[in-house]
Amino acid sequence: MSRRAVIVGAGVTGLSTAYHLARKSYGSITVVEKGRVGDGASSRAAGIITGLLWSETGVLARKISLSRFRELSEELDGYRYRDVGCLNLFDAASWPERERLLPLYDRLGVEYTVLDRAEMAAAWPDLALTGEPVGLFDPLGGYSEPDHYLPALADGCRALGVEIREGCMVSDFIVDGGRMAGVVADGRRIEADAVVSTVHVWTLKVLETIGLQLPLKSFVHQRYVTAPLPAPVRIPAVNANPYGGYLRPHYGQRVLAGIENPEAPEFRVPGRDFLMSTITPPPGLGEAARKNLLPLVPTAGRADRAGRDGDTGWEIEKAGLLSFSADGEPVLGPVERFPGLYVGVAFHSGGFAYNPASGVLLAGCVADGRPEMDIGDFSPNRFDPQETEAYNRTRITHSEYSLPGQSRRH
Ligand SMILES: Cc1cc2nc3c(=O)[nH]c(=O)nc-3n(C[C@H](O)[C@H](O)[C@H](O)COP(=O)(O)OP(=O)(O)OC[C@H]3O[C@@H](n4cnc5c(N)ncnc54)[C@H](O)[C@@H]3O)c2cc1C
Repeated sequence: MSRRAVIVGAGVTGLSTAYHLARKSYGSITVVEKGRVGDGASSRAAGIITGLLWSETGVLARKISLSRFRELSEELDGYRYRDVGCLNLFDAASWPERERLLPLYDRLGVEYTVLDRAEMAAAWPDLALTGEPVGLFDPLGGYSEPDHYLPALADGCRALGVEIREGCMVSDFIVDGGRMAGVVADGRRIEADAVVSTVHVWTLKVLETIGLQLPLKSFVHQRYVTAPLPAPVRIPAVNANPYGGYLRPHYGQRVLAGIENPEAPEFRVPGRDFLMSTITPPPGLGEAARKNLLPLVPTAGRADRAGRDGDTGWEIEKAGLLSFSADGEPVLGPVERFPGLYVGVAFHSGGFAYNPASGVLLAGCVADGRPEMDIGDFSPNRFDPQETEAYNRTRITHSEYSLPGQSRRH
C-alpha cells in the first residue's frame, strides 16, 4: 500500500524534504503552504553557505549540504550554486574561540585556509579590509540566489510528482491512538502516515494545538542590495563578523549586505495567519550597513546614492525572522511523543545553508526510519518540558541571546 506524507510549509526546508522524499520513491507527498512558495524567511535569505560551523553534527550536516548544492545545480533547471568560497572573518577577540575548532575540522576532513589581511588582499583585490582581521576561508562555501533556487526546487518537486497546495493553512493535527495521522488544512482532513512540520517561526503557534512546545526565540533580521555596479565585484561570500554583518555578490552586477541588530527585541508571532511580509527593516540599519560594510568593497561604493532625497542608498531592502533554539542547534527529527510527527526548525541564521541536508535527513527519518547520519544532538526530544516553558516565558534581545556566539553566522 502506498504511503502518504504531508509536509507543512513550502520554504526551503519543506520543499527540500519533499524533494528528497520523492527521490526515495516514498509514495504520495503533499506540501501544504498557507501562502505562496517561499512566503516565509526563505525568499528573504541572503543564501550564504559555509561548512565551517561550531559543532560536529553541524559540520557533518553542512558537508551533506555542500555536496548536494553542487549536485542540485545539475538536477534543477534554472539553479546554479555560486561556488565562490566563503570567507569567515574574526577579530583578535573572537578568533581564539574559532581557532579551537580547527582540530575538529581536521578530524572531520573539512577543508579550510587561515589567511592574514595581506593574503586576503592578494586573493581578492576588490576586498578592502580594515584592521587586522583573521580570515578562515571555506573553499567549498559560497551562496545561492533564493530568487532562483526556490522556483527551481518547487519545479523539481512537482516534476517528481509532489503536490504543492498553496493558499492552504494547517489549523490542526489528526492524532489517532497517540500516533500522528494527518492534518486539518482549510477545514479538510488530509490523512497521512507521516507529518513533517517545517513552519519556522510559526512552529509554536502551529504545535500548540497538540500541546507540544519547543524552546524557541525569533528575531528580526535584515539585508540590502545595491543598484547595478559598473563592473562585477569579485569577492567570495564574506561573513564579516568584526564589521557586524556579511556581504556577497548579487545577480545583476550588484552587492548584497546584511547587518546585525543586537538591540532587536524578541519577536513573538501573533497568530497562525501572521505574514512575514508585514516586517520591514528597522530604521537606521540600512545606513549602518552602508557605513560599516560597503567600504569593504570600494567599487560597490560607486552605486552609493545615499543622502539624495532621503535615499538609503540601497535598491532592495528585505527583512524577515530568524529562529533559534535554547542551545543554538537546529531542532530536527522525529517527535517521540507523537510517532509519525517530524519537525525541522531553529536553523539560526543558517536555514538556507542547512536546507539540502535538512531535507535529506528528514526524508531519511520519514522513509527509512533513520537519517543518513547521527542527528541526536538536533533531536526535538532533547529539551526538558518545564525548562522549555520557563525559557519561552522569558523575553530577551538578540544580543542577550547571541553574546557567546557573535562570530557564529550562516
Ligand atoms: C534577512 C535574512 C537573511 C538570511 N540570510 C541567510 C543566509 O545567508 N544563509 C542562510 O543559511 N540562512 C539565512 N537566513 C535564514 C533562512 O532564511 C531561514 O533559516 C530559512 O529560510 C528557513 O526556511 P524554512 O523553510 O524552515 O522556513 P520558511 O521559509 O519561513 O518557511 C516556512 C513556511 O511555512 C508556512 N506556514 C507557516 N504556518 C503554516 C500553516 N499553519 N499552514 C501551512 N503553511 C504554513 C509559511 O507560510 C512559510 O512559507 C536569513 C534569514 C533572513 C530573514
